[in-house]
Amino acid sequence: MKIGIPRALSYYAYYPFFRTFFENLGLEVVVSDETTKEIMDMGIQDTITDACVPIKLFHGHVKNLMNRVDYVFVPRLVSVNREATFCPKFLGLPDMVICSIPKFKNMLEVRIDLKKSRFELFKLCIKLAKQFKKGFFRAYIAYSKACNSLKNYASQFLQGGIPPLGIASQKKSSNVSLAVVGYPYILYDPYLSLDLIKKLISMGVYVVTPEMLAKEEKQKQASKLRKNLFWTFSNEVIRTAYSLFENGSVDGIIHVTAFGCGPDFIVDKLMEIDAKKYKMPFLTVTIDEHTGQEGLNTRLEAFVDMIKIKKAKKEAALA
Ligand code: SF4
Repeated sequence: MKIGIPRALSYYAYYPFFRTFFENLGLEVVVSDETTKEIMDMGIQDTITDACVPIKLFHGHVKNLMNRVDYVFVPRLVSVNREATFCPKFLGLPDMVICSIPKFKNMLEVRIDLKKSRFELFKLCIKLAKQFKKGFFRAYIAYSKACNSLKNYASQFLQGGIPPLGIASQKKSSNVSLAVVGYPYILYDPYLSLDLIKKLISMGVYVVTPEMLAKEEKQKQASKLRKNLFWTFSNEVIRTAYSLFENGSVDGIIHVTAFGCGPDFIVDKLMEIDAKKYKMPFLTVTIDEHTGQEGLNTRLEAFVDMIKIKKAKKEAALA
């Protein structure tokens, strides 16, 4: 039995959990291929035109998998805690995908809503295992291993590497350090983000992403905002930015956002306004399926140069 996991959206946050869980149930996990222009075009073909680019891409990854596995895993991600939900497009994802992709019949849909308690995840795993005719004990072992696997994945980020991009260690001694904030499924998909993180690193920049900050550090910021945002990933982004505004450990912030993203209309504006208050250089990079490499390179080079000049002037003034 083969379970396909699309390399998009929740893949970049929860893949280690589901891979470990399914494998320990004795199922084979197949991940869709890395994003290419072909996969992107396949997604664009069937998605409604005003969907954001990560959603279009998800459709492409489903199509990349649907004819070579028994089931394609499409989670309906509602909540993983009590304070927020996921963006409405995550909530309606299985409906959108099944209606948009012709002849897509082998969807494995699960609703993940942990608002009541984390125990809901365990219950969900038992239910899923039952669907594949696996008993309680096997499901319990698979669930425990999956939890550990997710924990280890999170700690790899904290060690300063960026695992989804395969960047094991960066030089902390870099002259310029920048935070690149945004949703993991945009930042860590090299095709979608036009390899922005690797570009910055090759320019000698030390890059910090939201996943590299400790959970507790981001949580401290929760009480400082007038109001929590409604969306889980948006809270991660904004709390990272506020934490860095306060401790000043980076020289600037780049927000990578998708054209047409509803939550980011608020998130980006809030960060832009407060970056001015903290005198933190701030750049918004908006991407869609038409964004070109050259325009992005010029903007990144200009931003990094501007920060270098600013730093040099500051150092000269202090000398
Ligand atoms: S948060 Fe924005 S980018 Fe992400 S799925 Fe929702 S609309 Fe798209």
